[in-house]
Amino acid sequence: MVRLRTGSVYHPPQATSGNRGPTATRRIGQTSRMSGPVQSRDVTEDPAHPEDPDGAPGPPPDLEVTPSRTAEVGSMTVRRALPRRTRRTVGAWCFADHMGPHRVAPGDGVDIGPHPHIGLHTVTWLVAGELLHRDSLGSEQTIRPGQLNLMTAGRGVSHAEESTSGYSGDLHGIQLWVAQPEATRHGDPAFEHHEELPRTEVDGGVGTVLVGAFGGATSTARTDTDLLGVDLQLHGRSSFGLRAEREHALVVLDGAVAPAGSSRAGAVDAPPEPVGTGHLVYLAPGHDELTLDPTGPTRLLLLGGEPFESQVLMWWNFVGRTREEVEAAREDWERGGERFGDPGSPLDRIPAPPVPWRPTT
Ligand code: MN
Repeated sequence: MVRLRTGSVYHPPQATSGNRGPTATRRIGQTSRMSGPVQSRDVTEDPAHPEDPDGAPGPPPDLEVTPSRTAEVGSMTVRRALPRRTRRTVGAWCFADHMGPHRVAPGDGVDIGPHPHIGLHTVTWLVAGELLHRDSLGSEQTIRPGQLNLMTAGRGVSHAEESTSGYSGDLHGIQLWVAQPEATRHGDPAFEHHEELPRTEVDGGVGTVLVGAFGGATSTARTDTDLLGVDLQLHGRSSFGLRAEREHALVVLDGAVAPAGSSRAGAVDAPPEPVGTGHLVYLAPGHDELTLDPTGPTRLLLLGGEPFESQVLMWWNFVGRTREEVEAAREDWERGGERFGDPGSPLDRIPAPPVPWRPTT
């Protein structure tokens, strides 16, 4: 029998008040934002003082279904699956914003002005639509469905995500962040575009491997820690192997799926209803197989990795360890110094909000 965290079993998506963070300013058209900055409501402010909203600490549940925080950003719905106060990381995966599908017209899409990052990789994956990535390394890269953009921030990078001129249709995708380990997080920034990714047939569907290895297919995308990211398109029951030392998560992009069983202790109790968009399904380490029952054609991301080496401090667009380094990054961005460069975007740069704690200096 698996342990389910009280109150964590299937809830309908919870609408919340609008996003209070800063937004990109576009000179023409709709203001919108794909990957909003992390707010203190998403995470604790300081890893040295973690909150435990459930009260008593205890072993993590085997299976946990957490509603995403939904926000209307411009005219687009973004479902933030990670971080949540009760679930901050899955392996090194530390941020997941599922956007759309949303109908866009030329000049009315996602536009995120230049903003900085430290200590993370951004992973951009589209189901439909187009985006233009520009960064301070000089990259200028359009991304389309089936392709992967992976940017490494290291000690500092800045980028912008712009709608492409002329595209009209659905925009649907997800942006993920991966926390960098101590070994690489102070290193150089980098950018990779993967035009094609390896695919592998699974029971009941097909998997596209974004990062890591799955079903005999291995992505060449950079990973700094043990990591797995697979897009699964399922039309029928699917069983596949997992590495038991990893924790895993499912983010449904389209359709719905019931986690019907796993290899540990006989079975994972299925949630009372299939899980659709707007949730994160978390599976604790210890499982070496998972069975999924889609209710129809279903598309989801399987994320996994060995539990991250340390707690991280996430604030705004920064992943660090201490308030001091986050404050220093904020000041460097506000000063406009060399550290974060200039992605050369026509959009206006996004100013950093004040830190939500009393500054240490
Ligand atoms: Mn970004």
